[in-house]
Amino acid sequence: MIEDKTPQRTSIAQLGEFGLIEHLTKHFEIKNESTIKGIGDDAAILDFAAKKAVVSTDLLVEGVHFDLAYMPLKHLGYKAVVVNLSDIYAMNAKATQITVSIAVSNRFPLEALEELYAGITLAAKQYNVDVIGGDTTSSQKGLIISITALGEVEGDNVVYRNGAKENDLLVVSGDLGAAYMGLQVLEREKQVFQVNPNNQPDLDDYTYLIERQLKPEARKDIPEILKALDVKPTAMIDISDGLSSEIMHLCKQSNVGCNVFEEKLPLDPQFINVCEEFNIDSTTIALNGGEDYELLFTIKMEDFDKIKGNPNFTVIGHMTQQSEGIHLVSRANTKIELKARGWNALQEE
Ligand code: ADP
Ligand code: MG
Repeated sequence: MIEDKTPQRTSIAQLGEFGLIEHLTKHFEIKNESTIKGIGDDAAILDFAAKKAVVSTDLLVEGVHFDLAYMPLKHLGYKAVVVNLSDIYAMNAKATQITVSIAVSNRFPLEALEELYAGITLAAKQYNVDVIGGDTTSSQKGLIISITALGEVEGDNVVYRNGAKENDLLVVSGDLGAAYMGLQVLEREKQVFQVNPNNQPDLDDYTYLIERQLKPEARKDIPEILKALDVKPTAMIDISDGLSSEIMHLCKQSNVGCNVFEEKLPLDPQFINVCEEFNIDSTTIALNGGEDYELLFTIKMEDFDKIKGNPNFTVIGHMTQQSEGIHLVSRANTKIELKARGWNALQEE
């Protein structure tokens, strides 16, 4: 598909490995004080001075984590960066650098890699992180991308998954489930396209959902907002696999239970409409959809006044004793045990 859409095709073999690296990386600039040396030597050099260094890495494999049939390469580059930065923000840290490693088969022309790097460059700019290195190699089949994100945090400000206590409030940023429904819309359009390639999809009613799937944003702002409000979460995690699954991680690591209230789950109106259209239960998707890249955290009850009314945050539940278990309290006020189903399980239904 990529081949067909790309008007000009320059074979990557023509440039050679060093030519390719030079071509893709020459425009990167260093903006963060902590970057001493970026691309161009055997290794990068960083200096976080008195701060703690935060490191997180992700591996994305074509056909497993992304499908180039409806994921433009520029979006893929952008998303690959964003999902990594999200992990740094989930430690209550500031993201500062990334490395980018790629394995590509020769079916990709140079122009395709330029698109990928345009997305990476845009994300690096948007989130003010320096691209400080990587590796470039060939693959037998398909595209593989690995990104490592680095960040910095004052030691006392680090927030782990394991600090939640009984009676803490459970808070989520943004809204839930939209990325998953965006994927459902795209999957449907792909099938329509396969039957009739001349059919131009009308996606106006789905713009927010598709954007959440194809161009997700990480919550860089949340650690900053929390700091300004003088709130330090007791535990925090980012929502990549789905709310249920992340709640279970927080509870397990913190040795607490939890009650989550169905009526409190923050849902976008477009998300609700499309769930109706697909005849899917919106609560199930909000709980299990995944790829929202919002932050889920717990705060002490006495901090409630500091976040109350802030449009970035919704209190969706509270932590209990571990022995009480992990439950969804439904609109009908019945308690349903939460099970992490994750994204893959949902796909198989
Ligand atoms: P080495 O042989 O030491 O692995 P390379 O020739 O692979 O060095 O890389 C040269 C420089 O370019 C290094 O600074 C490396 O980090 C950087 N680099 C290589 N590939 C990429 C890439 N895909 N994206 C960003 N930087 C890269
Ligand atoms: Mg190398």
